[in-house]
Amino acid sequence: KLYNMAQDLKGYVRVYCRIRPILNTEAKNVVDFVGQDGSLVIVDPSKPRHDGRKIFRFNQLYGPTSTQDELFKEIQPLIRSVMDGYNVCILAYGQTGSGKTHTMYGTSGVSEKDMGINFFALNDLFQIAERRQETNYDVRVQMIGICNEEIQDLLAEDPASDSESSLPDVTFHSVKSNVDAINLVKLGERKHASVNTSKMNNISSPCHSAVAIHVHGKDTSGNIIRGCLHLVDLAASGEDDKSLSCLEDVITSFSQKSSNNHQGNSKITSLLQDALGGNAKVVVLTHVIPEGDNFTETIRTLKFAQKIS
Ligand code: ADP
Ligand code: MG
Repeated sequence: KLYNMAQDLKGYVRVYCRIRPILNTEAKNVVDFVGQDGSLVIVDPSKPRHDGRKIFRFNQLYGPTSTQDELFKEIQPLIRSVMDGYNVCILAYGQTGSGKTHTMYGTSGVSEKDMGINFFALNDLFQIAERRQETNYDVRVQMIGICNEEIQDLLAEDPASDSESSLPDVTFHSVKSNVDAINLVKLGERKHASVNTSKMNNISSPCHSAVAIHVHGKDTSGNIIRGCLHLVDLAASGEDDKSLSCLEDVITSFSQKSSNNHQGNSKITSLLQDALGGNAKVVVLTHVIPEGDNFTETIRTLKFAQKIS
């Protein structure tokens, strides 16, 4: 069954949508939505019910009670693809506060089952490596943050190597086990969170983070397998975020398989050229806030997601 799903994913951008639960702190002005067979029907709270109905279709829809585990099940076949030599890119997209970081990294201090899909992915990757005794795998991790078009190597020991004018030589870190890998990514996550917080007053320039897991395998007859898993937590989808508009262009042109004339020139797009090109498999995880005040932004996010699916 897993194999069939992986076949299914071949060559397509898959677009999933996750609606997070309403938080205690939010006004109880909840957007009406219904999910059916991957279709999201959403109702504009400012319009009469039948006028305000909008329908969006996704490859998969996750409601407020969905678990990290359920989401990961759909992504799991792609981890096998990485071990088979594919580039896989998982992108979390959506407005600030919509749950992107929760999906990718989990919320700290919660139980194991609430850990982010990044960590499920790392566990899975090493399990596959262990099972495939005929292949010897090397795994290396890179992790960067991008704030205000400045790249920070989140795993560099030397802070002097931060913020260069172009893509810096981002350090590679060999990891021998899932525990190694998870600890490393958690370290980077903490570093990124501290940068994010200190720049919080600059609301129009939120930060992206990206983990790249490079897999290099060699089997007993000497065949080489190279795969890469990109796990990207994108900054807000706000229109004032220039780098994200560029990314929208890149993803759009990629998903329409047009000749790629939307190179864009932001850091995040140059980083993702590789991740999104060639034989890459791409999953976009669209995140939505189920609260009425965010309706305009929600529709913008959903429209973009619709464009690429
Ligand atoms: P973003 O990264 O998109 O800005 P966060 O991941 O930080 O958003 O989520 C915003 C808040 O909502 C956090 O307090 C987070 O714990 C909570 N949250 C997000 N998604 C979920 C979910 N699926 N279940 C429970 N709480 C969630
Ligand atoms: Mg976040």
